[in-house]
Amino acid sequence: RKQDFRRINEYLWELPTSFDPRMNVPVRIYADEELLEDALGDLSVHQAVNVASLPGLVGYVVVMPDVHQGYGMPVGGVMASKVPGGIISPGAVGYDINCGVRLLATNLTEEQIAPHLAELATRIYYNCPSGVGSEGHVPLTARQLDEVLAEGARWALRHGYARPEDLECTEEFGRMPNADPDKATPKAKERGKDQLGTLGAGNHFIEVDVVDEIFDSVAAERMGLFKGQVAVQIHCGSRGFGHQICTDYLQRFERVIHKYGIKLPDKELMCAPIDSPEGQDYIQAMACAANFAFCNRQILAHYIRKSFEEVLKPKGIAHDVWQVYDIAHNMGKIETHEIDGQRMTVCVHRKGATRAWGPGSPGLPKKYADIGQPVLIPGSMGTASYVLLGTPGSMAQTFGSTCHGAGRVMSRAQAKREIRGEKLKAELESQGIVVRAGSMAGLAEEAPRAYKDVSRVVEVVHHAGIAKKVARLRPIAVIKG
Ligand code: 5GP
Ligand code: MN
Ligand code: MN
Repeated sequence: RKQDFRRINEYLWELPTSFDPRMNVPVRIYADEELLEDALGDLSVHQAVNVASLPGLVGYVVVMPDVHQGYGMPVGGVMASKVPGGIISPGAVGYDINCGVRLLATNLTEEQIAPHLAELATRIYYNCPSGVGSEGHVPLTARQLDEVLAEGARWALRHGYARPEDLECTEEFGRMPNADPDKATPKAKERGKDQLGTLGAGNHFIEVDVVDEIFDSVAAERMGLFKGQVAVQIHCGSRGFGHQICTDYLQRFERVIHKYGIKLPDKELMCAPIDSPEGQDYIQAMACAANFAFCNRQILAHYIRKSFEEVLKPKGIAHDVWQVYDIAHNMGKIETHEIDGQRMTVCVHRKGATRAWGPGSPGLPKKYADIGQPVLIPGSMGTASYVLLGTPGSMAQTFGSTCHGAGRVMSRAQAKREIRGEKLKAELESQGIVVRAGSMAGLAEEAPRAYKDVSRVVEVVHHAGIAKKVARLRPIAVIKG
């Protein structure tokens, strides 16, 4: 209930540990009054309290304005556990390990692309296979899959699917270093081997957008963004591979948790000590899934470039497609942060939360070192999406994290009951948005009105100082499974 919260400022609310004797750290929610009401409308806060009851956490459990309930931990949540001494929890990373967003920009304007947009959307739809269990154009042998798991986007570079600058502008430069393919389960590998270069279904999408507002002209120029420009967002993750890693490690942790004497507030928050053999194995397997996802988005980017080529080259339209950034929003990462005046090594679990490192953070591409890391926030296929930057505020307040989207207000089941996919498609097309979708039921689940108002969510993180607005995008074509 709202009365249980202490209002710290206009956009920040705290649930102190006195709220529930099990809590080890407070819960902090970034929201305005209306978004707080939304957060109280499902199990999000209850789940955040459960998370705050896990052992070995530091600071507080952070809840973002786009929150909704998830598996064990809400989507739109951040927690940081001590290293060593804390725990790692697959459910607090999410099933789709390294689900994330990549933004490509072009030197084309909306006017230039408009006559060819339908054809371009169709090309992308065929070149980037989608739908549940779809197979890609890059089938892998067992040995090649192990290479992908160890190398991430570098594998794509070695095989002609990337430019070196793409990797420079990817989180971790496209490769998590501690990946050990031997820690990935055979079942996960079986599911992954034919799925590289596929989009998946449901919430995952490729979208052609137009930059329709610039808020920070210095940062926009650095990213090569200008008003009226055509850009492309890719949202997807580690496909069946990552999902199976999560499933298999949840089971493995369940078999050994009694050894460690951890009392779970909810079975879905299954975890293991980060320094235990099982915890370490999960970290190495999770890194494999993260690398699969980095490589996957890289291959999709390649096929998007190819689609532009196929459509525009015969018409003599010169163009370039470059990468602005690629960032994860489901990941567990070992980082150092200043907490209560002390530098500490922690495992930051970001589930439906985007890393948002501020200016001067280590590991940023040179071109963004002094402005901070680009943050990519999709909204919905009928509204807007945003490009932001990480800030000193996100480093100080939220372990270098911010929101990841608009966030659902309607469950998938409810959206499917209430919204007809065909009607939605017609509505979007009447607004001038080209739709290529494999499943009308799947489209209905992702209807704009199933999501919160992304602009409202972005206002909260901007004014709370945990990200800074750079540009707004408007969709002109959406490709879904
Ligand atoms: P998630 O990773 O939690 O499934 O989704 C991330 C965010 O993507 C959602 O919160 C939603 O705001 C956004 N989203 C879902 N579908 C679309 C789409 O088709 N286009 C855009 N631009 N955003 C979407
Ligand atoms: Mn995902
Ligand atoms: Mn996602």
